[in-house]
Amino acid sequence: MRKVLIIGGGFAGCAAAHQLSGIENLEIDLIEKASFLGAGNKTRWYGGHPYTFGPRHFLTPYEDVFKYLNDILPINLCPEHEFLSYVEKDNDFYAYPINMQDVKNMPEFEEINNELKECKRQIKKGHIQANNLEEYWINSVGKTLYKKMIEPYNKKMWLVDDVKKIDTFKWSPKGVTIKDGPRAAWDNVYSGYPFDKNGYDHYFTYATSAINVFLNTSFEKIDIDRKTVVIDGNEKKYDIIVNTIGIDDLFSKKFGALPYLGRKLELIVLPVEEAFPKDVFFLYYTGSESFTRLVEYKKFTKHKSKNTLIGMEIPVDNGGKDYPMPFKSAQLLALKYLKTLPNNFYSMGRAGSYLYGIDIDDCIKQSFYLKDMIKEDNFEYPVPGKQYHFPEL
Ligand SMILES: Cc1cc2nc3c(=O)[nH]c(=O)nc-3n(C[C@H](O)[C@H](O)[C@H](O)COP(=O)(O)OP(=O)(O)OC[C@H]3O[C@@H](n4cnc5c(N)ncnc54)[C@H](O)[C@@H]3O)c2cc1C
Repeated sequence: MRKVLIIGGGFAGCAAAHQLSGIENLEIDLIEKASFLGAGNKTRWYGGHPYTFGPRHFLTPYEDVFKYLNDILPINLCPEHEFLSYVEKDNDFYAYPINMQDVKNMPEFEEINNELKECKRQIKKGHIQANNLEEYWINSVGKTLYKKMIEPYNKKMWLVDDVKKIDTFKWSPKGVTIKDGPRAAWDNVYSGYPFDKNGYDHYFTYATSAINVFLNTSFEKIDIDRKTVVIDGNEKKYDIIVNTIGIDDLFSKKFGALPYLGRKLELIVLPVEEAFPKDVFFLYYTGSESFTRLVEYKKFTKHKSKNTLIGMEIPVDNGGKDYPMPFKSAQLLALKYLKTLPNNFYSMGRAGSYLYGIDIDDCIKQSFYLKDMIKEDNFEYPVPGKQYHFPEL
């Protein structure tokens, strides 16, 4: 019998628990410092409305991930979801992704149109390479649209004074295509939310039903050579460790602390049955407002009420670990930590991979890989997920 420890009971920890409980001869402990599983994905209630910490809308391009979750927790599909972006200067809402129909209605249409044509010409010549988010967008859509919609939003989203600091995006500017008209926010993905009024909660209990769960229990430190961990002051030995908390926290920040951002969530009940236009789930605010996004929860929870609940997300540097930063220097530091993981020690999930792009579906996808790796005694860091990659050293 091999002893396994899973650190953290968020989506990644619970998904790992479920996959590993299908492997013979493992005895699995999961520790979670909070008094509940699921972290920000757990359903809370306000004024009789269900909500989560931020939207937690289930989106995935993966057939196997969708099928897996849908079999356990039937998903109510809502493929037509749309986003709108507010531009205060124009006092107007535009669809996001940006499309030509909206561009035609912008006061700077001619300027933007000329810049878009120039971008197309340059991209056709094929020499453009972006080194940061600013270059990526300017080379793709021109300066005017960038200054209007992209720059102020990203400054607020990442609390940076200069968008050039976001330097982990090595995409070619061909990546942005301005469509002719509005469309669903994402093409070719499953988009939905559990039918259950308690959202994802059933998944967390179901996924961990065959393992030992210790709530209100904190990981303190690890001794890699002796394969021991200290949990609430007690030393314990494990054969396999699956980490889902900040990779710097796993190693007591021995190479330095990784930067993260937290989120504050404000809740507002409005005395109308529905506040956002049909099919619009999210409103993004691109300007000087402190918040980035509003979500109308009932659009995907399908909760019935004469009122509606709106959540407002505000980026804050409050020690919260909701968002790993998209800075090359930070990702290189995370990589240094990940490289010190020996065989049979795995790290996954958003903070455990130190990748902002890890969403609910990636946590599940990573858990599939984890199962294969442990069955085959393989090892990779972080556990592979979506198309997000670390920069090369
Ligand atoms: C505001 C917000 C909105 C989001 N919206 C969406 C969305 O719409 N769709 C989507 O797919 N994804 C969304 N995501 C991303 C997605 O929810 C996360 O990527 C996913 O939940 C990450 O799960 P995790 O298990 O890696 O981390 P977490 O959920 O953070 O879980 C980590 C767990 O570890 C525990 N822990 C921490 N330290 C210790 C310790 N020392 N000892 C023991 N336990 C510890 C924590 O209490 C927590 O329960 C959103 C994220 C945020 C922050």
